[in-house]
Amino acid sequence: MAHELAPLPYAFDALEPYIDAKTMEIHHGKHHAAYVTNLNNALKEHADLQSKSAVEIISNLNSVPEAIRTAVRNNAGGHVNHTTFWQQLKKDVAFPATSKLGSTITSTFGSIDSFKEQFNKAGLGRFGSGWAWLIVDGGKLAITSTPNQDSPIMDGKKPLLGVDVWEHAYYLKYQNRRADYLTAIWSVINWDDVVARYEQAMK
Ligand code: MN
Repeated sequence: MAHELAPLPYAFDALEPYIDAKTMEIHHGKHHAAYVTNLNNALKEHADLQSKSAVEIISNLNSVPEAIRTAVRNNAGGHVNHTTFWQQLKKDVAFPATSKLGSTITSTFGSIDSFKEQFNKAGLGRFGSGWAWLIVDGGKLAITSTPNQDSPIMDGKKPLLGVDVWEHAYYLKYQNRRADYLTAIWSVINWDDVVARYEQAMK
């Protein structure tokens, strides 16, 4: 069964003015679409892998034949990361200060502002293309970043929140100003989704 690009779960302009409609249209319709196409191409002659979900595949990259492993890593990673990313963006969702996640973020990172600062530092410090993450690692919250389309799932970690810091995620509106994009992103984080992932991760 081929992997498919799900429609964006909201209108392209739903995140304006923080993320512009044109960026969303190209990011979803061209970039994410290309990861899906390239993943299907890589798996074309590997029927055993075609029955697995993209998450299952990136959870065990060592079981992928070496000849296609890099292509699968990049494109299955890109497919999983972007599928999650779209679900994590929404305007006007307040930070869940009174939830277990909210209080654990505060106790782990000092305050919500300090958390955002440390997260943005991870995103800014990622040279070239990649992602910044809030993850659960050994039952504890941590901030990290990955290169390219690597996912914390590849290392057995549980991602709660991922922010795309590839230039294609912000260049049309913010040009080279990744810091401004990372400041704006906090206005469109769907904390309901992050809370749900945290509850799932801590089960
Ligand atoms: Mn992207």
